[in-house]
Amino acid sequence: MKLADVALPVPVPRAFTYEVPSALEGVAPGARVVCPFGARAITGVVLAVREGEPPEKVRPIAKVLPISLPADLTSFLVELSQYYFAPIGEVFRLAMPPLDRETAESTIRAKSDTLGLFGDEEAKGLSAKKIQWAEPTAGTEEPSKLSAQARAVLAHLRAHGGYPVARLVEKWGNARAAIEKLSELGLVRVTTRDKEPDPFFDTTVPRDVPPVLNPAQEEATRAICAAVTAGDPRTFLLHGVTGSGKTEVYMRAIDAAKARGVGVIVLVPEISLTPQLVSRYRARFGDGVCVLHSALTARERYTMWSRLRAGEVDVAIGARSALFAPVKDLGLIVVDEEHDSSFKQEEGVRYHARDMAILRAFRRGGVCVLGSATPSLETVHLARTGKADKLVLAARARAQEMPAVEIVDMRRTGAGPTGDKKLTIPLHRAIEKTLEKKEQIILFLNRRGFSPSVRCHACGELVVCPNCSVALTFHKGRSRVVRCHYCDHEEPLLERCAKCKAPALELEGLGTEKLEETLAAAFPEAKVARLDRDVASGKAIERVIERVRSREVDVLVGTQMVTKGHDLPFVTLVGVINADAALSIPDFRAAERAFQLLVQVAGRAGRGDAPGRVVVQTYDPSHHALVFALQHDTEGFVERELRDRRELGYPPYSRMALVRIDAVDEEVAKGAAESVAATVRRATRGEVDVLGPAPAPIARVRGRFRFRVMLRAPDRKKLRPGLVAAAHVLEALPRNVRGVLDVDPVQLL
Ligand code: ADP
Ligand code: ZN
Repeated sequence: MKLADVALPVPVPRAFTYEVPSALEGVAPGARVVCPFGARAITGVVLAVREGEPPEKVRPIAKVLPISLPADLTSFLVELSQYYFAPIGEVFRLAMPPLDRETAESTIRAKSDTLGLFGDEEAKGLSAKKIQWAEPTAGTEEPSKLSAQARAVLAHLRAHGGYPVARLVEKWGNARAAIEKLSELGLVRVTTRDKEPDPFFDTTVPRDVPPVLNPAQEEATRAICAAVTAGDPRTFLLHGVTGSGKTEVYMRAIDAAKARGVGVIVLVPEISLTPQLVSRYRARFGDGVCVLHSALTARERYTMWSRLRAGEVDVAIGARSALFAPVKDLGLIVVDEEHDSSFKQEEGVRYHARDMAILRAFRRGGVCVLGSATPSLETVHLARTGKADKLVLAARARAQEMPAVEIVDMRRTGAGPTGDKKLTIPLHRAIEKTLEKKEQIILFLNRRGFSPSVRCHACGELVVCPNCSVALTFHKGRSRVVRCHYCDHEEPLLERCAKCKAPALELEGLGTEKLEETLAAAFPEAKVARLDRDVASGKAIERVIERVRSREVDVLVGTQMVTKGHDLPFVTLVGVINADAALSIPDFRAAERAFQLLVQVAGRAGRGDAPGRVVVQTYDPSHHALVFALQHDTEGFVERELRDRRELGYPPYSRMALVRIDAVDEEVAKGAAESVAATVRRATRGEVDVLGPAPAPIARVRGRFRFRVMLRAPDRKKLRPGLVAAAHVLEALPRNVRGVLDVDPVQLL
């Protein structure tokens, strides 16, 4: 009998076997097929077709859908699933067009479809201009009998004020069931609304004129284009300082790919933060690029998916998930800002899009370009060991000076006129001067909210989250509440301490909301705006950046969001309020991240004609990350950091994996983590370093205690038996314990 192994988007770590009926004889790997599954029908992807003895109760494939996945994508996904020990169905889910997911879910939920939300929007006659929108009702109570997913959806809606249903379904598989339940409880309302115009498909983007390359760009372009044209599967590290014109090099590489008739994927960090970056590709290539971003409806995604698959469009641009675009005859993958941590997915399939981009391009015989001003040490190591070719753009594109960086030692420097110690005299004066010159300012502070913590000054008690082991942040704008940044728990700020009843609660520390208020008061003539997750999702982010670009705003205050690749020519001053926050994180990559952050944020200054200046405030001015950032000395930093990593046996000189265990009960979680550690130790007999279990740095989140077991070995091959053993124990965990294996972890928190 002819049998097919099919990956189905269900969280089971294996493929399913179906009969290939004779009418569907031609079915091949990559085919999208509809299969009976219990009482339902699900769309999956064929992995292999073979002759064989049918297992008991084999059922036939019901239907083959017209468009298949490209063969190279299919085999790449299988390899990815093996690399990360991730369930094959969940991996394929990442690459299936969204309507498949919806169709699958619609069949699953067809009977309870009371809201008429589910499934094929086209069939339901919903016009492409309309979307389903879910928003929270006025209630703020914490419902008791809700599933974890429903609670997460509710928290998300409350945090965002509303969200497209299709996007929620992408985040949480069962979001529709959750929304149904929440709307029954009167906590959520679902409406149909007009779709916002697509910011990336504003067809009025005027075409640009390609600039003449400078010699460094010329040289880098020549090397990359030669490989693209020859179909030579090389990896390049394009190390170019901020503003050196890396994008121009990527665009020339895309030209070469187009000329050869091969497809391209461009991965960029968090696309909604850099709409202007994307519009540069649109200005160059017009409708020849398709932008995959989170504001698209499932239908639009499907359209793009099929146009890419057919080769009608040959360039896909997007955040990490664009790695799975079904680009025809893929010949080039560009990873812009390759050091950015958003390329690592931190839920579900925990893949790293940069690492997998190298693999996908290589398997396909394509070129991979990793670009950054602050390359990750992993990528630097690839270049040093001959696995990547390094190209350098050492100066800014139009020969502007790099900004001058000065360090303010906060131990010796007093508060400026505002009286706030976090706005020192030198920074205050620098702001004044910049405003006088009618130039713009970016101030970076990685704490959102008004005050990061609230403490009782009578008894010393901190106001903490009931679900997580963290302090609650005071948010003034949102009707004076304290909120948890881990679980979104919110409560009103009380007049008195809950413990000792004294009316002595005091706000501690400085958040972006307070900084914005302080600046507005100190510089009443200046327009101050703020960019962080509280102000901004999608459209709102773009509006803020647009206001800065059009010089409506003088001072932009914000979190990490302000450090990303914005090209704002009138920003001449960048202030880093507290550089120590990034340095004090308990993670072996803390120095690397702090260095990257400082160089990137500094890189926002002086990109136009006027020279830039950067003021960094710190209590630890001799830290090597600061000292090297001050001198724009990436090579020096890398040298020093690699030496430390080698001595301590950390990546890139070793490979790691993290087993994350959590449970409501602390002892249960700890016990499970201990058994994981013991099993892996036994199975690997000292070949793999097993560290822990140890409580996670934030020991409890969303009511669950978290433990970690770290595995480490000199290389991937030696680590593998440890991964096999860990994956094995994790499958057999009791139901009340959650465990995940994070291979090549980035986030240790
Ligand atoms: P990076 O991505 O390396 O930070 P960008 O690609 O944003 O740098 O380039 C910085 C600025 O320099 C952009 O405004 C870009 O249009 C401009 N630019 C790039 N290459 C050239 C060139 N060869 N001549 C003139 N301007 C250029
Ligand atoms: Zn919490």
